[in-house]
Amino acid sequence: MTLIDDKSINTTPISSLGEFGLIERLTKDFKCENKSTIKGIGDDCAVFKGAKNYKLLSTDMLVEGVHFDLSYTPLKHLGFKAVAVNVSDICAMNGRTSQLTISIAVSNRFSVEALDELYSGIKLACKEYSIDLVGGDTTSSLSGLVISVSVLGEVDPKKITYRDGAKVNDLLVVTGDLGAAYFGLQLLKREKEIFKENPNVQPDLSGHDYALNRQLKPEAPVKYLKILEELSITPTSMIDISDGLSSEALHISKASNVGVSLQENKIPIDYTIMNLASEFNLNPIAYALSGGEDYELLFSINQKDYDKLKKDPDFTIVGYVTDISVGNNFIATDGSIHPLTAQGWDGMKEQ
Ligand code: ADP
Ligand code: MG
Repeated sequence: MTLIDDKSINTTPISSLGEFGLIERLTKDFKCENKSTIKGIGDDCAVFKGAKNYKLLSTDMLVEGVHFDLSYTPLKHLGFKAVAVNVSDICAMNGRTSQLTISIAVSNRFSVEALDELYSGIKLACKEYSIDLVGGDTTSSLSGLVISVSVLGEVDPKKITYRDGAKVNDLLVVTGDLGAAYFGLQLLKREKEIFKENPNVQPDLSGHDYALNRQLKPEAPVKYLKILEELSITPTSMIDISDGLSSEALHISKASNVGVSLQENKIPIDYTIMNLASEFNLNPIAYALSGGEDYELLFSINQKDYDKLKKDPDFTIVGYVTDISVGNNFIATDGSIHPLTAQGWDGMKEQ
């Protein structure tokens, strides 16, 4: 085998493409040939034709040291989270979950009891989201724990929400509030550092339940879909907020070929997170835009649906959709307009 040493193979660093550039490059020559494939790569789930409904499939991998740190993540919480983040992708298509497979790679550092704990969290999530665990794979790992989860779901073809359906003049709406998971993580990291310096100091995480829960035990945004159904609203486009509001808004912009404008003074942040952000001396808006792991939904609605949800505190209008020529903008509270970037907005550098 000389593949690796072959001088004819260029060695472009992956970092020069980034995650999305890499996915695009690796998958660009794959075309879907089967009639039953409705949507392949490029949305929160793949979509297939079922007997009556569309079937949905989403898969995600969590790697120890990259996505989680077991020194402050209880295994039960990790199991729950691994399922919930996949359910969140099914929610982003306006679907319901049905089945799940779990594959794990485990090093001999883990005991049977530790894996029991992991699976007790998985079981809890299966119960909460009405999912059947139907399979998976188990193998060994030389370093740490890897968890790969695939979730199946289904959706009425009339109600499916893709990233590419946003129309000019639609309103952009988010569920719940943003930034909490990021600040939960900062708290856990801070206490870990203190503990490393002085193991006799007990972690002081009191009074921060909301931020910690949002980081350690995120809920998939299932309840909001029920409310939208009751209000007879089908979003024109939808995505789950796993990488921060600005990155997700840019995905909708790109897929729908429209511009998006986000308004700083509308972005919902819990008051406990405002306090925590000032404790860390960080701008909470910046981390609502780019922090990630909130697992809320960002969706667009036709203006005619505005009256139906305007009084519901579960939903906040955070901006609007424009013609693509307007570009993607962040409108600061002082009225100044900045280009929206995946990291937030350009003014962030001056914060
Ligand atoms: P999400 O954040 O919603 O989980 P991702 O950003 O991970 O979605 O992926 C974007 C799209 O690219 C999805 O359609 C996903 O299935 C696809 N994708 C990601 N990684 C790969 C890969 N290695 N090979 C093929 N498709 C991939
Ligand atoms: Mg997603």
